[in-house]
Amino acid sequence: MRVLLAEDDDGVAGALTEVLYEHGHLPTRVRRGGDVLARHRQADLLLLDLGLPDLDGLEVLRKLRAVSGLPVVVLTARGDERSVVRGLRLGADDYLVKPVRLAELLARIEAVTRRATTPAAPASRTVVAGDVEVDLDARRVAVGGVEVRLTTKEFAVLAALAARAGTAVSRQQLMDEVWGDAYLAVSRSLDVHLTQLRAKLGRPGALTTIRGFGYRFGD
Ligand code: CA
Repeated sequence: MRVLLAEDDDGVAGALTEVLYEHGHLPTRVRRGGDVLARHRQADLLLLDLGLPDLDGLEVLRKLRAVSGLPVVVLTARGDERSVVRGLRLGADDYLVKPVRLAELLARIEAVTRRATTPAAPASRTVVAGDVEVDLDARRVAVGGVEVRLTTKEFAVLAALAARAGTAVSRQQLMDEVWGDAYLAVSRSLDVHLTQLRAKLGRPGALTTIRGFGYRFGD
């Protein structure tokens, strides 16, 4: 399922993204409320932190509910009953108090989507950043609507990043996933593939280097 995760804290977002990814979901992480309003159409479920830097999460929820019935699970650090009650009144389907227990998160997501009245559209596994589109099932990449041809390894690197869009993925993790046990000699190879990918996509903003750590797809 495509999960839009609105969370400004990198540590929390990283942990949630990883657990969602490991359980077969396709998380896209955004930092701001405005991004939720811009991207909710590409999601099957929203995990919404209430404390966002630009807009209060409840305000985001109110605006979203004016245009969408997307299932929403609110994440609150406040433990504050009033914001939870307000969130539910504004149309949140469920809530979780931080720190989130991961097993509970997965169970709630399942329950909420089971209850959702409109059956989910056949889950699309296309990830979009700007005008770069990565279709994980068809293994196709398009930039500005024009298909870009990638090698198997280039696609594997891009897919590993796109499957957790908006979140940094470490070099180690990329090498494990793309090369498996053969990664001992490939640190250099990863650099080569990334250079090639960047040249082919022609969108410098789509792949960000996180110095001393790894890479991120999308902003
Ligand atoms: Ca926050």
